[in-house]
Amino acid sequence: MKLLNFIGGEWIEDNSLQTMPVINPANGEQLGTIPLSTKFQVEIAAQKAKEAQKQWALVPAPKRADYLYEIAFKLKEKKEHLAQILTKEMGKVIEEARGEVQEGIDMALYMAAEGRRLFGETVPSELPNKFAMSVRAPIGVAGLITPWNFPIAIATWKSFPALVAGNTVIWKPSNETPFMAYELAKIFEEVGLPPGVVNVVFGSGPTVGTAIVEHPDIRVISFTGSTTTGSKVAELGGKHLKKVSLEMGGKNAVIVMDDANLDLALEGILWSAFGTAGQRCTACSRVIVHKNVKQELENRLVEATKQLTIGDGLDPSVKVGPVINKAALEKINHYVQIGKQQGANLLIGGEILSEGELSKGYYYAPTIFTDVEATSILAQEEIFGPVISIIEVSSLEEAIEVNNGVKFGLSSSIFSQDINKIFKAQQLLDTGIVYVNAGTTGAEIHLPFGGTKGTGNGHRDSGQAALDVYTEWKSIYVDYSGKLQRAQIDNNA
Ligand code: NAD
Repeated sequence: MKLLNFIGGEWIEDNSLQTMPVINPANGEQLGTIPLSTKFQVEIAAQKAKEAQKQWALVPAPKRADYLYEIAFKLKEKKEHLAQILTKEMGKVIEEARGEVQEGIDMALYMAAEGRRLFGETVPSELPNKFAMSVRAPIGVAGLITPWNFPIAIATWKSFPALVAGNTVIWKPSNETPFMAYELAKIFEEVGLPPGVVNVVFGSGPTVGTAIVEHPDIRVISFTGSTTTGSKVAELGGKHLKKVSLEMGGKNAVIVMDDANLDLALEGILWSAFGTAGQRCTACSRVIVHKNVKQELENRLVEATKQLTIGDGLDPSVKVGPVINKAALEKINHYVQIGKQQGANLLIGGEILSEGELSKGYYYAPTIFTDVEATSILAQEEIFGPVISIIEVSSLEEAIEVNNGVKFGLSSSIFSQDINKIFKAQQLLDTGIVYVNAGTTGAEIHLPFGGTKGTGNGHRDSGQAALDVYTEWKSIYVDYSGKLQRAQIDNNA
């Protein structure tokens, strides 16, 4: 299937553009093609979005929200259809794909309800007969740049708050997962969103992404992706004085204390380390374990890992699907070789899988290293694959220090039965998300999502915090005294 850009409410066919194939990572099958757009398509989209925004901003927020309710119903109606396509283009197992679509439904309903809130403040003025309030004002056109690992959820985290707040959108999805963008754009069209309110432009990051970040009419950029790309976006966006929201990489850890419920810890680690084949930004890639339970946890992790079924995520018995592409497979394997060379002890996995049907796709064996040095490359860099490093510690203090001793700060988790340790940990763990007695994944859409240090730049997706990205605060003073009242001066008379 030949996917087209969606600009100004129309599907634009442009045969002069080069195309790129979209591949199912489970079996190498070609699913379709996308156009490799140029700066020109971004310029047209920006023009359409800018024109549309003038009217869209005047639509009362509860009416803008009605579109989001309709979108939620469409997403519900199409949930299974979308999940199947998601698994085909991205590789995650079907149960997780359904969960991801559900996240989009939840976000649509949450942000639709914002249409009747979008709370500002009213405060008493220091002067008589004067009224003071603040309101959230839309910024204008929002440029959204998204990765492939949550191709629909992340798009909804960004576009829904942007829309309900009165912005219009230009969205560049990842080239690896354009089908979710196509399906979501179709839904925007089906619910009758006015032309130009959402525009989708396919193409490469350096060309289309850069054109979006540079464009003078696109005033807010919301990016999710790697820290390397995010830094470039921040630099360029900063040069153009844009508001730039960044959600980037992670090196998330599960801490297992010696009083932990090990059955629970085991389940939490497996789910957060090997779910989505380790390609979640919140994936657990370090297990920081107390020396008293290290051996037992290691033995049980290895046994449980042997039982994981690997294959095409459309098969409901499969627990670990493929990684996104050949480059990802090679990158993961490269880190595993570094781990071996640097003396980490490989307990299981550590290889590309290519037997039988697996040879057609991109599969990496779930891998566990132990006796990993906390400062080694294996334990420091984002691998983005099914690889765990076990690090031994002797105390909670040491566990927290190891957890915080990386350049990222997205998600962390602690398994313990001791309420004092738990509260101390939640206070000191330097991550945007902390889980207690659960793995490092499982965010719900009504709380802020994002991280500290190399993971972000202070903004958040999801929850109320997302509205801060897509709105400007406007403070309004209404003086009905009929005379000039000077703040800070006349109230002291
Ligand atoms: P990526 O950085 O390679 O690409 C992300 C997006 O940026 C893509 O759409 C890409 O085309 C675009 N892009 C590439 N170069 C660009 C440039 N120069 N200017 C503008 N845009 C450009 O990331 P990826 O491989 O698609 O995704 C995986 C990464 O995303 C991981 O690091 C993961 O941790 C991170 N991630 C973070 C979160 C979070 O919320 N913190 C969530 C999901 C994924």
